[in-house]
Amino acid sequence: MEQINDNQDWLTLFKKALLKIEPEINEGQRKMLLGHYSAPGMALSVKRLAEIAGYEGFRSGSLHYGKLARKISVAIDIIPPTQDQISIIAEWNGNQKDERGHGQWILYDEVAQAIEELGWVKIKNNVSQQDFPIPLGVEKPKEIISQTTQRERDALVRDWVLRAANGICECCEQEAPFESSDDLPYLEVHHIRHLANDGSDTVSNAVALCPNCHRELHHGKHKDELVENLYVCIPRLKRE
Ligand SMILES: [Zn+2]
Ligand SMILES: [Zn+2]
Repeated sequence: MEQINDNQDWLTLFKKALLKIEPEINEGQRKMLLGHYSAPGMALSVKRLAEIAGYEGFRSGSLHYGKLARKISVAIDIIPPTQDQISIIAEWNGNQKDERGHGQWILYDEVAQAIEELGWVKIKNNVSQQDFPIPLGVEKPKEIISQTTQRERDALVRDWVLRAANGICECCEQEAPFESSDDLPYLEVHHIRHLANDGSDTVSNAVALCPNCHRELHHGKHKDELVENLYVCIPRLKRE
């Protein structure tokens, strides 16, 4: 930045400029600017910037980000150091390529700081108690008597499924992560159609899983795909 004018207080200038042009910034431009701020190393290719804003080709990304930069440049009354308008807010680094081989723009620290100080983003790398207040908790939790409906499980089914798995998770096909206190590989038996949903307690509805896969089948984003995969890969299973 020094080559532009080293007497300027860039942070103050950028803050003023952003504040001034805020009403004119469109949704795509805002997404690009904040996306740029959040990117690792604040480095992004024009193509990525366009994608963030939902523009089709990189050209419209370049165009819209360029327009935003132009507004900033006009607001602070300083000509960008290179022909590309974007150079008023970021430095081009053609050698620092992203994973797709595109050179990247590095957002200037002063612009980032202006964005933070204007409160446009939550300040990063600075997780304080303000963001996540530590709950006090309870020293002695009250006793709650709860009543849940449990279904009886057939121990023979469980044992058969575990023995058939032979210490290998039937979902990820990795070895059980540890041995249990009875020296057996630790796996958990899961009913694909849950017993609570009237699934049967039979070997054609039960699989042996490592704890990770078991949790994933209950809570994972891709649990339906995992189940589908189990049905395809394990011949004894029957859809219920
Ligand atoms: Zn697993
Ligand atoms: Zn389960």
